[in-house]
Amino acid sequence: MKKGYSFLSKCGNFTIFFLVLVFCMPLISGYNKINARTSASDVEENKKVVYLTFDDGPANIVTNKILDTLKEKDIKATFFVIGDKISGREEILKRIYGEGHTIGLHTYTHKFKKIYRSEESFIEEMDLTRNEVKRVLNIEATAIRFPAGSKPHLNDSLLEKLHAQGYKIYDWNASLSDGLNYNTPPDKLYREATKVVGKSTNVVLLLHCDQPNTNTCKALPRIIDYYKEQGYEFKPIKEDTPEFYFRFKKNNVRKTVTTFIKNTMDK
Ligand SMILES: [Zn+2]
Repeated sequence: MKKGYSFLSKCGNFTIFFLVLVFCMPLISGYNKINARTSASDVEENKKVVYLTFDDGPANIVTNKILDTLKEKDIKATFFVIGDKISGREEILKRIYGEGHTIGLHTYTHKFKKIYRSEESFIEEMDLTRNEVKRVLNIEATAIRFPAGSKPHLNDSLLEKLHAQGYKIYDWNASLSDGLNYNTPPDKLYREATKVVGKSTNVVLLLHCDQPNTNTCKALPRIIDYYKEQGYEFKPIKEDTPEFYFRFKKNNVRKTVTTFIKNTMDK
């Protein structure tokens, strides 16, 4: 009798433990979602890789200066370009591509009210930019970056639509404040560039190459030297680079997102 009671008691405890665990699961997964977890880290876990990514170009002087530094340091990077800046700056786009860097898309207007008005509006902005890149380089660019990051705009519905168009999303896990304040001193930019969120050995670093980003030009050689000294390999984002986006809350459905899409980015 006593034995039976004890057995039932154990079962009861286990049931309570199990129920608590079930109820806590959404909380636990919710906690993970606020971390800048990325998919690239799962693929190249043991390799130290840094992807330098430059947003908001092409711009006449600054983008060229950055290209000069990359050439000098023999580094390949990725440029997320704004569609309506390409007309009149075709030569810069050709230089980026011609020197072995890759091209990503960063909307057509970069005007938040317009790009984030609806999912259709966002996709249209990317399509227009993709066409501009194709017009100049005759390539299909499919890597995209959301202005200010995919959070809180990305959700299941938009992800599905973007994937259907062959787009792949790239956020970052290290960033410079050069997009928020052009006057951030180069020393501060350098310190920001070396702070990586999480413990991934894959770093996607966000920088800007717009016309006022002269301090970024000044900080860049030191940033490159730092990652070289730390033993990182520099890579541009290519068609086989796993997507890299901030986790977002799924629509109350546990769903595995397939991040690998065989597509053609640019080379
Ligand atoms: Zn931007």
